[in-house]
Amino acid sequence: MRSGRNDAPSGGSEPGLGRANGIRLGRIAGVEVSLDWSLLIVFTLIAMALSGGVLPHWHPDWGQGKVLVTAIAAAALFLGSVLLHELAHAVVGRRLGVEIRRITLFVFGGMAHMEGEPKTWQAELGMAIAGPLASLALGTLFLLMAGAIAGPIDLDPEDPGKGLAQVGPVVTLLLWLGPVNIILGLFNLVPGFPLDGGRVLRAVIWGLTGDLTRATLMAAAAGQTFAWVLIATGFAMILGVSVPLFGSGPIGGLWLALIGWFLGNAARQSYRTRLIEDRLGTVPVTRVMHRDYQSIDPDTLVQDLVDNGFLAFSQRAYLVVSDGKLRGVVSLEDVRVLGRDHWSSRRVADVMTPIERLHTVAPSDSASAALALLAEKGVNQLPVVEHGRALGLVTREDILKWMVLGPGSAA
Ligand SMILES: [Zn+2]
Repeated sequence: MRSGRNDAPSGGSEPGLGRANGIRLGRIAGVEVSLDWSLLIVFTLIAMALSGGVLPHWHPDWGQGKVLVTAIAAAALFLGSVLLHELAHAVVGRRLGVEIRRITLFVFGGMAHMEGEPKTWQAELGMAIAGPLASLALGTLFLLMAGAIAGPIDLDPEDPGKGLAQVGPVVTLLLWLGPVNIILGLFNLVPGFPLDGGRVLRAVIWGLTGDLTRATLMAAAAGQTFAWVLIATGFAMILGVSVPLFGSGPIGGLWLALIGWFLGNAARQSYRTRLIEDRLGTVPVTRVMHRDYQSIDPDTLVQDLVDNGFLAFSQRAYLVVSDGKLRGVVSLEDVRVLGRDHWSSRRVADVMTPIERLHTVAPSDSASAALALLAEKGVNQLPVVEHGRALGLVTREDILKWMVLGPGSAA
């Protein structure tokens, strides 16, 4: 799986997940890799399923310790496989000019966070197909390795588990990881956005029609259809229907329905995001920013700012300007953190966020870039700056207002 920067309005975003609040593993091939806490659930489920059912069935003669160690190794290697899938996206993406800074592994797989969308359908296609191909290659490699190590295994077609009893832990691991990676590759190739296969489909339609928004609409519709199939299958399993490959039962069914629900949401969200980008991508930020903000001198006492600024007006942040140049921004929060006792002795320059640490946009930036930055940095406003001079302020509300009232809107 792969999605856009999901804490920002970029295509393929998956709501509410994938923030960098997990365990940082470090940098691999120039990409920051972290594990989301939710992954512990997957790790535990895999280790439990293997140690509680699969491995004792394959190897009735194994002791509990051997079973447990093999199960934990399998779960860890599975996470490693998912990581390789994501790294394949990241490395190919970079080659094709898509900036990728970090990868998060979380409960439904992994996510490579893109800085913006691929610029061409070729880049989208190459980057999307790289992950599943890596999984398929890895799965094949594991199976070949198992064959090379174990030699021919005597399999009884009636009960394939029986023949497995002869092989050791390493071959057992390989024989489990091989098919699992192949399934992972095939699942992600399902042509429903935002799965990798859906991105492939979008790239192809984009290439054929030249219309990214229409391509996203169609790929997202396919994604939602697939999501409904998963949900329906999940409920059928909960009701006791046996589904080939998935089996039956409430736990597997619930899991499948949950993945379906998640995918459907992501598909809807992706299309909505694309519509916003389509509408805002060509609008310069100067069209949506507001100019009627008040600025303040850096030498002003904080007490004056409180009395004549924050208490008198609804504005929650002031641009700090001297000699016509933007020096920083001071917010209600800066003043609160300082503490009442210091308000009459400190000046605005002491508490403001200085220009060096400020996130700003240029007048040539698009409104969609500003919206993405607002979300990514978690800030409420961005100064629009040209040659050190502030031209205006842009907030989320400004952009929403433009979406509702701007030319071409429904209003
Ligand atoms: Zn993927």
